[in-house]
Amino acid sequence: MLANKTALVTGSTSGIGLGIAKALAAQGANIVLNGFGDTEGPLKEVADLGAEVAYHGADMSNPAEIEAMMAFAAQRFGQIDILVNNAGIQHVAQVEDFPVERWDAVIAINLTSAFHTTRLALPAMKAAGWGRIINVASVHGLVASAQKSAYVAAKHGVVGLTKVVALETATTGVTCNAICPGWVLTPLVQKQVDAKADAGGISIEEATRQLLGEKEPSLQFTTPEELGALAVFFCSPAANNVRGAAWNMDGGWAAQ
Ligand code: NAD
Repeated sequence: MLANKTALVTGSTSGIGLGIAKALAAQGANIVLNGFGDTEGPLKEVADLGAEVAYHGADMSNPAEIEAMMAFAAQRFGQIDILVNNAGIQHVAQVEDFPVERWDAVIAINLTSAFHTTRLALPAMKAAGWGRIINVASVHGLVASAQKSAYVAAKHGVVGLTKVVALETATTGVTCNAICPGWVLTPLVQKQVDAKADAGGISIEEATRQLLGEKEPSLQFTTPEELGALAVFFCSPAANNVRGAAWNMDGGWAAQ
């Protein structure tokens, strides 16, 4: 379905971003991966699906590096047809104790980077008459949790940015939507499970049960594969008129 299309997925060396990159690759898209840590494994996983794959290590908190990544992708594959803004970090603390540097980093990586990639990707998408911008927000783009001020502010911002971009592209072949996952068992959440186990002197299994039980009625994690399938749907012709949605896949979290 996505042969001859190119998808750039930020923060795709791990977790949800890698799951979405693999789902788009399985549909025939060329993939540009981005993110930190091991790159060899993710590059191989995506290439094994038959995709043309490239990697750029831009730091999503750095606008100049984001510009370099966007130029690299356009030069390597002609243009970016599908932009998935997924890179994100978490920091957990009460507002009055929140380290200022962590606030700035969460806002830069989780929110401002999506502004930069979007503004740089849109002209070519509009000129081509087709494009997909998919913002990986969170259920925290719809509701709040204590101790996550920067993350919740950034994710609500991403949902707002999604709506504005959807309006500004409404008469074009470019769509912009957000995905709002509940808990997904990635390294980002494993850290929160481990912290809970440490703080409560409980096992990882018990901490996992408690984490799900507090927020997610299904008591089940959403998987990167399920989120990848939703991203593929947003890229399909059936989703041509899905615009500005903030689509939760959260086991009922936001329904409460
Ligand atoms: P993860 O930690 O597994 O992956 C994060 C990715 O972002 C990694 O590839 C990492 O290298 C990259 N990254 C981090 N900082 C970066 C930077 N400065 N520049 C470039 N890349 C950077 O986390 P994940 O759970 O897969 O999270 C992916 C997205 O999904 C995030 O935006 C997160 O907020 C969102 N999300 C996660 C969950 C969850 O439960 N895991 C729920 C809702 C939303």
